[in-house]
Amino acid sequence: MRNACGVEILHWEQRAIPNQSFMQRPIYLDCHSTTPMDERVLEAMLPYFTEHFGNPSSTTHAYGWEAEAGVKQARQMLADAINAAPEEIIFTSGATEANNLAIKGVAEAYFSKGCHIVTVQTEHRAVLDPCGYLESLGFEITYLPVQSDGVIDLAELEQAIRPDTILVSVMAANNEIGVLQPLAEIGAICRQHQVLFHTDAAQAIGKIPLDVEAMKIDLMSLTGHKMYGPKGIGALYVRRRHPRVRLASQIQGGGQERELRAGTLYPPQIVGFAKAVELGLAERESESQRQMQLRQRLWEQLSQLEGIHLNGHPTKRLPGNLNISVEGVDGSALLLGLQPVAAVSSGSACSSASTAPSHVLTALGHPDSLAYASVRFGIGRFNTAAEMDQVAEQAVTTIPSLRQAQSVVPQV
Ligand SMILES: *Cc1c(COP(=O)(O)O)cnc(C)c1O
Repeated sequence: MRNACGVEILHWEQRAIPNQSFMQRPIYLDCHSTTPMDERVLEAMLPYFTEHFGNPSSTTHAYGWEAEAGVKQARQMLADAINAAPEEIIFTSGATEANNLAIKGVAEAYFSKGCHIVTVQTEHRAVLDPCGYLESLGFEITYLPVQSDGVIDLAELEQAIRPDTILVSVMAANNEIGVLQPLAEIGAICRQHQVLFHTDAAQAIGKIPLDVEAMKIDLMSLTGHKMYGPKGIGALYVRRRHPRVRLASQIQGGGQERELRAGTLYPPQIVGFAKAVELGLAERESESQRQMQLRQRLWEQLSQLEGIHLNGHPTKRLPGNLNISVEGVDGSALLLGLQPVAAVSSGSACSSASTAPSHVLTALGHPDSLAYASVRFGIGRFNTAAEMDQVAEQAVTTIPSLRQAQSVVPQV
């Protein structure tokens, strides 16, 4: 297939891998969990594994300089992508670490000002868990509810801010229902009350416009692997001016990344991450349109069935996200029924092994039974219209037969 720029992209199934089971794998529709890496990203990374293998912190020789040059260019690319300065980018191992650094780092640096943090019930666990940890240390956390479409109420946010509030953390795009929060409005409220604003943009970077100036964002977590880049690399944007954010380092050692995150930098990952962001930006508009059409195509077929509900706001969501609840069907049975054709997940991949209803769907106010039978379709760059039809066909035959089976076999 060719991408929007006419570049030939090999779908993984076209790559010569002599493994039959590999060829027969289901259609990948789990792009909120991770994405396949783009071939062009891999190409950009390869020289930094071998030829330019130096340590970017080695300032005394050419090996170090070459690696440093790659990192510097990547840092500039990432900064440009979000309208920041390169010194404001701190590389981390991913968004989990970036969230931990932002939340615990602010808590530790500002606790003399106050011990109150505001976040949202539908956040990723990489935000909720550090907040829970801080709670155990004596911090107070307000978990804002969301409206039934998954968007927060700005008036409630403003009411939650107190004189001792040091941080507001609201995600840019939800990883289960794809819902986009109004970042610019949240940023304006936080700035007005002189409270720092952190956003987890793991799902948003490369997919929706992000501008730390226009949106008044003070800290932003990013990751590479949700947007066709490598796993194990991410970044935290930390504002240096108006206001200058103070942060307590969570990993001490060699003093890398302005003493905020020690550890030898990983140039192949960093270069690949920046390449992925560059491609994401260049192709964003055409890809958004294309993925929205694919989602619409899938939804139109699925919604012909009775008792299918769309979770989350119909338009304020990531273009490739479709999250549905299915009435009268057991969640795991539904996933099993789709499994031969579609690799999808129910709720969040990080907790899909658990049988508890997703905390995100619960926060939307659905009864538990509805929250149970939910499917998240994460459509991405390499999916096609034909794949949507195949998946829809499987769902449209599986769901009624599951319902029939469940209605004749009494539930104990
Ligand atoms: C995937 C994800 C994370 C975790 O990112 P890693 O880079 O895998 O650590 C955090 N927040 C959100 C919203 C995510 O989707």
